[in-house]
Amino acid sequence: MKVHEYQAKDLLRSAGVAVPDGIVITSAEEAGAAFDQLKEGLIVVKAQVHAGGRGKGVAIGPNDDRAKALEIASGQAPRPDGMAKGVQLVRTREDAIKAAASLLGKTLVTYQTGAEGQAISKVLITVGHDIVRELYLGLAFDRALQCPVLMASTEGGVEIETIAHTHPEKIHREPIDVGLGLAGFQARKVCQVLGLKGETAKKGEVFLKNFVKLFLETDASLAEINPLIVTDKGDVMALDCKFNFDDNAMFRHPAIAALLDVAEEDPAELRAGKSGLSYVSLDGNIACLVNGAGLAMSTMDLIKYHGGEPANFLDVGGGASKDQVLEGFRILLSSPRVKAVLVNIFGGIMKCDIIAAALLAAYSELDFRVPLVVRLEGTNVEAGRKMIEESGRNIITATGLTDAAEKVVAAAKGAA
Ligand code: GDP
Ligand code: MN
Repeated sequence: MKVHEYQAKDLLRSAGVAVPDGIVITSAEEAGAAFDQLKEGLIVVKAQVHAGGRGKGVAIGPNDDRAKALEIASGQAPRPDGMAKGVQLVRTREDAIKAAASLLGKTLVTYQTGAEGQAISKVLITVGHDIVRELYLGLAFDRALQCPVLMASTEGGVEIETIAHTHPEKIHREPIDVGLGLAGFQARKVCQVLGLKGETAKKGEVFLKNFVKLFLETDASLAEINPLIVTDKGDVMALDCKFNFDDNAMFRHPAIAALLDVAEEDPAELRAGKSGLSYVSLDGNIACLVNGAGLAMSTMDLIKYHGGEPANFLDVGGGASKDQVLEGFRILLSSPRVKAVLVNIFGGIMKCDIIAAALLAAYSELDFRVPLVVRLEGTNVEAGRKMIEESGRNIITATGLTDAAEKVVAAAKGAA
């Protein structure tokens, strides 16, 4: 689960991590009052979307060229004058209102959003700081080390992906013991790597320890502070922040779960989540209904191997009810991109006749506008197959994974 920058900063602030003061607004008129309240010379106006690269991003209207915007946001095309960026520095009340108006209600395209972009419905008005140094901090899980790793680099403010590629040695990696958090010696080491000295290093140690503590306590899965700055007063501060949380742990963090901004989420994924189904949206045209994540992965591999592209996959899990399967089909069929559906079920806990009954119910209740290929195997498979055959429905049955993949790829091509 992702949250907005302003929400991540609220969490950091309450955890004792230094962040600039800020006010969130939803209409340009509020920008003036926010400017007055912050009483600072430099103010930063920032689009709140679940994507990075906003500083170089382009805010566009409904009639603007999205593909062109993506080229500009990725630095592949020159930026014409007067094009609104997702992060704007202003010094007057009037400019703050103008900047907010150039963002709210628009779509922000950055190298991370793709040409689709993301709608801007909130803007953060925040106190600007003079930057003496721009640093980078990240926290992510290292699967090989089986623990979170604190990443620190003096190359802040730029795309860390580029540094990781060209100069991996410039990113220091400090493994975290999840039981102990960041130890004192580790905090001191990271401060040294970052070139923090004296009082600034002391502030840096507190910053780092609290940052790691927050990450561990909230079951975060990813956190990034880019840039972490050193101010002219020798303070360290998070100018930007990104936090992702583990969906599976949100039941024990209701306050964080409540931060979910549904406008930023894929509506089909949200809908599936409400029915206890896991749904993942992809770019192709073959919808997949499967049971189990491993089967989902191999089904998609097979589709690709046979020249097709999955549109999504929906995992009904081990004990899905008939209603869940029905809802699953509704979600799969709601995507206009879908040209064929593949049902690939191994009936272990989930019996094949239950799936067959749900399939047939879905077929009569829903408008099955595309070919349906079904491969069933496992418990009660004979009964399930018989039900489908005797139904007289136009369902393509397949035996084995290869047969199923070949049939659904052919069906999708025929319907395209
Ligand atoms: P991102 O582009 O989505 O990562 O958004 P950021 O919040 O990182 O802002 C982009 C850039 O704007 C930063 O890398 C800074 O260079 C600049 N910026 C943001 N806040 C301030 C500020 O308070 N003072 C100054 N001088 N620059 C800022
Ligand atoms: Mn940033």
